[in-house]
Amino acid sequence: MRTRLTVYNDPPPAENRSPIGEPQSGSAPTAEQQLPQWYHAIFHHSFQFAFIVSPEGRLLEMNQTAVKFAGIRVQDVLGKFFMDMPWWSASGKNSVEAALFRASGGEFIRYTTEFIGFEGAIATVDFSIKPVFSEMGEITFFVAEGRDITALKKAEFERDREKQSADNWQKLNELKNDFLSSVSHELRTPLASIIGFAQTLLRDLSVPQATAQKFLTIILQDGQRLSRLVEDLLDLSRIESGHIELQRTKINIAEIVEYAIHLSSPNAAAKHIHLCWDTSQDPVFLYLDRDRITQVLVNLLDNAIKFTPEQGAVSVTIAHLPDGYVMIVVADTGIGIPAEELPRLFEKFYRIRQKGHEVRGTGLGLAIARQCVELHGGKIDIESTVGSGSKFMIILPSPE
Ligand code: ADP
Repeated sequence: MRTRLTVYNDPPPAENRSPIGEPQSGSAPTAEQQLPQWYHAIFHHSFQFAFIVSPEGRLLEMNQTAVKFAGIRVQDVLGKFFMDMPWWSASGKNSVEAALFRASGGEFIRYTTEFIGFEGAIATVDFSIKPVFSEMGEITFFVAEGRDITALKKAEFERDREKQSADNWQKLNELKNDFLSSVSHELRTPLASIIGFAQTLLRDLSVPQATAQKFLTIILQDGQRLSRLVEDLLDLSRIESGHIELQRTKINIAEIVEYAIHLSSPNAAAKHIHLCWDTSQDPVFLYLDRDRITQVLVNLLDNAIKFTPEQGAVSVTIAHLPDGYVMIVVADTGIGIPAEELPRLFEKFYRIRQKGHEVRGTGLGLAIARQCVELHGGKIDIESTVGSGSKFMIILPSPE
């Protein structure tokens, strides 16, 4: 029969108490005699959940803290398998089974699990199982303990969340500052030139006509550059803010390629660059926004022409990929792009400074191209070798 010692939650009646250190009159129990009662009190009044489990894995005892949390009657669970206790979730049951198995090998096991308590209360618990050995070296029982760390975890989670949101805010701020400083830098250069040349012309109206024409040409070119920059910025902001709806229609890709080649051919002709495209393919029909994909192709073709020396070649080919994807490749025999620059190439305002190749641009073209292709559910890849040329690959999904 199980015997239980009386465990007081409140101080016992005065007549049952003895002053600490003072022996009770009559047959005062010694500290040694009182030890079992003290251990019992520690076991039941600990703020941790505590269990004694038999070597076969059956529950032999559990403390009041655990009983209260689980909202059960002790007599309903004592003697039953520990892994079948009602407070384990499905995953908690598996973990405790594995933990008991490992503890049977003599290991001290500690892990975080969950206890499902009275009325569905869930506690995150820092749980441990320790085997206790007899003098013969056999496991006589396991001591299992659980510390409720729900509040601790919640505080940790809140701290992480606050830190994450502070980090995000700082990142956003840095991005905004970078963006503003890039925009101001890009605006400042052409503006300074426009103002400078206009002032020179105004100050001295007698400058020779050829010089005046040169200055006015610079003013016009820088004005156009500013206008392009503003157009690109507006375009990018429209795409990024999601205020853009693709006007998709069924189009033969070859038609768009031909049109983009037609638009880029004056630039190619000016540099005696051989511009060609592969016409051997069967027609490939995709649902695309004609203007947006033309814009992407023209941008890639213009770059290819810009960064290819005179007499070079630029080509466009169309290829079928597995799973219904279609790839349009714009290849050139130009200066190429160093491998270390490739990861940042699609960033806004990113331009590669290569000695001897100071070509003007906004550094926004590829950022816009990527956004447009991604809006279509596709992606852009690059392959490039310095000195040999580059390949920009637009990969688009087909409608099925
Ligand atoms: P930009 O308007 O300045 O050309 P892009 O975003 O279109 O801006 O291109 C960014 C940079 O990528 C260019 O400044 C150039 O250094 C590099 N680049 C793009 N296309 C090519 C290419 N075909 N060959 C070599 N470099 C290229």
